[in-house]
Amino acid sequence: MDTAITGAAAVQPGRLVGTMKAAVFAGPGRIELREVPIPTPGPGDALLRVTTTTLCGTDVHILKGEYPVAPGRVIGHEPVGVIAALGAGVTGYRVGQRVIAGAITPCGQCNACLDGLQAQCGGKAMGGWRLGNTIDGCQAEYVLVPDAMANLAPIPDNLTDEQVLMCPDIMSTGFSGAERGGVKIGDTVAIFAQGPIGLCATAGAKLMGASTIIAVDQVPERLAMASRLGADHLVDFSKTDPVEEILRLTDGRGVDVAIEALGTQVTFEACLRVLRAGGTVSSLGVYAGDLTIPHDAFAAGLGDHTIVSTLCPGGSERMRRLMAVVESGRVDLGAMVTHRFKLDDIEAAYELFGHQRDGVFKVAITP
Ligand SMILES: [Zn+2]
Ligand SMILES: [Zn+2]
Repeated sequence: MDTAITGAAAVQPGRLVGTMKAAVFAGPGRIELREVPIPTPGPGDALLRVTTTTLCGTDVHILKGEYPVAPGRVIGHEPVGVIAALGAGVTGYRVGQRVIAGAITPCGQCNACLDGLQAQCGGKAMGGWRLGNTIDGCQAEYVLVPDAMANLAPIPDNLTDEQVLMCPDIMSTGFSGAERGGVKIGDTVAIFAQGPIGLCATAGAKLMGASTIIAVDQVPERLAMASRLGADHLVDFSKTDPVEEILRLTDGRGVDVAIEALGTQVTFEACLRVLRAGGTVSSLGVYAGDLTIPHDAFAAGLGDHTIVSTLCPGGSERMRRLMAVVESGRVDLGAMVTHRFKLDDIEAAYELFGHQRDGVFKVAITP
């Protein structure tokens, strides 16, 4: 029997009976560690024993009541774990296998998924985001992953949990900022904000072949990390106007791709203002209200500009590719894990991460 199971646990075929610890959204301002039933995998599902997970800025929005989830929901959408049980019909995986699943868990079979839009599964905006949103998430001892065969990706033996902890969300989202922006070899790219996602966008632009990468932030540790991950120029917006500075650095030409990784009018607008004619704004931020497109920066609609937005790409093949990037050594995001907590102390982890204290980038949570 698995010693991690708490309460009166017993194992039945394909099923663990008992309770587990889980971080539950109890209402705005409250995330509580509670004992809840271990979920039972239905057809197509897998039950993972979570070995490592993390907190996301989105979880902090949930905590603050800025993004609505149902009270009682177990939150968290970045699972690294071991398969504990498989539902009926799941083939190609075995109990005991180390796996990750993406933050986005597409069904893999609907029209949107078959069109390559897994994040918009079901044809609804954000339809692929289920874990810790519309179904229970992974800040818990166990998590149920739906549509397991579309979502589980085995972890290469030589990689640790922490090495792949950024793959489910941060790395997938940040890289997609560069990919969806269509960064080409020799491009000049500006990235507004160097939080975990912006930093991964910086690393992604480098991997895509950008020759000049300009990273914008004001936090010294973030700018230093941006430099480590491939930024050529660091712009501290608290000391200099970033639009003027980027235009100066590009001899007035502007950038080919501007990546927005914060979710504010100011940074969105700045992306347009530093863009060359025909350039692309690749938007990753989550906006809290309406956006306005300035007439002049958008060349009255005649500048051949492209604006794209992306939600974290998910699915097993995406996860396999991201872990292959880690395994190849082409990017090392290990240094982004700055703090470690036990699941028992998750409320303290939220306190630290939510207030961005002590130079935190990402925390590792181990049940
Ligand atoms: Zn997230
Ligand atoms: Zn689907």
